[in-house]
Amino acid sequence: MTEIPSPAQAVDLSFEFFPPNTPEGARKLREVRARLAALAPSFFSVTYGAGGATRDKTMATVDEIAAEGRQVAPHLSCIGATRESVAELLDTWRARGIRRLVALRGDLPSGMVDTGDFRYASDLVAFIRARSGDAFHIEVAAYPEVHPQARSADDDLRAFVTKMKAGADSAITQYFYNADAYFRFRDDAQRAGVSAPIVPGIMPINNFVQLARFSDACGAEIPRWIRMRLAGYGDDLASIRAFGLEVVCGLCSRLLEGGAPGLHLYTLNQADAAERIVQALRLRG
Ligand code: FAD
Repeated sequence: MTEIPSPAQAVDLSFEFFPPNTPEGARKLREVRARLAALAPSFFSVTYGAGGATRDKTMATVDEIAAEGRQVAPHLSCIGATRESVAELLDTWRARGIRRLVALRGDLPSGMVDTGDFRYASDLVAFIRARSGDAFHIEVAAYPEVHPQARSADDDLRAFVTKMKAGADSAITQYFYNADAYFRFRDDAQRAGVSAPIVPGIMPINNFVQLARFSDACGAEIPRWIRMRLAGYGDDLASIRAFGLEVVCGLCSRLLEGGAPGLHLYTLNQADAAERIVQALRLRG
């Protein structure tokens, strides 16, 4: 693998998990957290199933991480959420010492009718600010390659600016493999008055079939040359991982050299890939 120059600044890291479904999954995630905690992240975040599907599991995982004395940010989505249910969650988190959260719209599960009080993430952000003042640092989502339901890139940028102005403190992006899309989005957002940090979300490449499925669903583009190479490796997982590490480290290097304020890694509850990226980039001692 080519050697990647280490960025001079101390890079802010955060790691995202989904709430495990089984006691075995919870045990494994404890081990993963212990390994990733050694990389001194600013926080861990825990996803939230749209419609509150994982409400209790998200809460349990967040509680466990907080009890370990680590900074943790629960995600929260609009789908199915009422003013009362969000107010209750905010009070619970506040009482448990949570100081950061990730506010999202979420995606309506098929067959579900949304009966919630919030249409867009910006409505949720505004409600949280009005209800809880500065009690929480609010993160929101950003889409350098444009949200799949947006009518145009300009509309999506306007929606993002509205969301930030509703009271968000910083943003984490959907993953992408094209650094120029990030720089263009960040620069456009800055020109539109957003000075808050926009942290790139980074998806390690470990499994081509899974990555292609995720990417088709969320509108993240896998460039053709990467897709073709990954497809060409077939079942050769070692080659997929080696090539994936090189691609992702090259991307992160460019982002950091271009001024990205940190990296948020989508871990899929695995430590290996995130550790390899951080080590290859020499982001920690
Ligand atoms: P919004 O900001 O509300 O935008 C949704 C769409 O509406 C966009 O197309 C936008 O352009 C448009 N829009 C927004 N405001 C307006 C307006 N005023 N008028 C017209 N159009 C508007 N999903 C989960 O279910 N659980 C999670 O835990 C979760 N975590 C995530 C974490 C990150 C970092 C990211 C990037 C995504 C995450 N998602 C999660 C996925 C997210 O919920 C989906 O991408 C969802 O489709 C959009 O959510 P949003 O918060 O960006 O929505």
